[in-house]
Amino acid sequence: MRKLVVATGNPGKLHEMQEYLTGLDWQLELKPKSIDIAETGATFSENARLKACGVAKATNQWAIADDSGLAVDALDGAPGIYSARYGNSDTEKITRLLKELGNNLNRKAQFICAIAIARPDGSIALETEGICQGEIIDSPRGNGGFGYDPIFFVPQQQQTFAEMPSETKNRVSHRGIAFGQLLPKFKEL
Ligand code: IMP
Repeated sequence: MRKLVVATGNPGKLHEMQEYLTGLDWQLELKPKSIDIAETGATFSENARLKACGVAKATNQWAIADDSGLAVDALDGAPGIYSARYGNSDTEKITRLLKELGNNLNRKAQFICAIAIARPDGSIALETEGICQGEIIDSPRGNGGFGYDPIFFVPQQQQTFAEMPSETKNRVSHRGIAFGQLLPKFKEL
């Protein structure tokens, strides 16, 4: 079985990727703690590429990285690549976003997930981006998920991410779409 280093120190993210990539002939493992790649890119794709390439070169192994976040149209794409750093807690992030959006009638937003896979020499073998379109509602709804899930409403499902059963979110979310696009190409590697 070939090894694929996941460019994260977070066991939860490793587990999530294992679920999306079940049935493949690759063994996923966490990156060593000593390797830390700065996310200095200007886009989700750039950050995913930087992390995959940096970890692949540092370990001399195949590596996979993802980068995701929420882009709100009326806020010129904010919080975007700063989604994780927009507040100290999920509640703080949601409160800040709702305050900045105020009564703006344009509530359009999209969750974006970029994934990159790098060869041991650091060259990019595969990359993809999944987008889930939705709207920011006025107040949180639902108890599931994490991050901005309670204020992200998906018109097709008539539910927020936080109201969806996890199977539904995994199917319609930016991450589900990105891994869905990646899988057939990954099988050919
Ligand atoms: P990461 O790229 O997985 O580290 O995610 C960056 C940040 O974007 C997270 O800390 C969340 O705030 C936000 N985010 C990414 N994906 C989701 C999601 O599916 N639901 C809610 N928030 C998300």
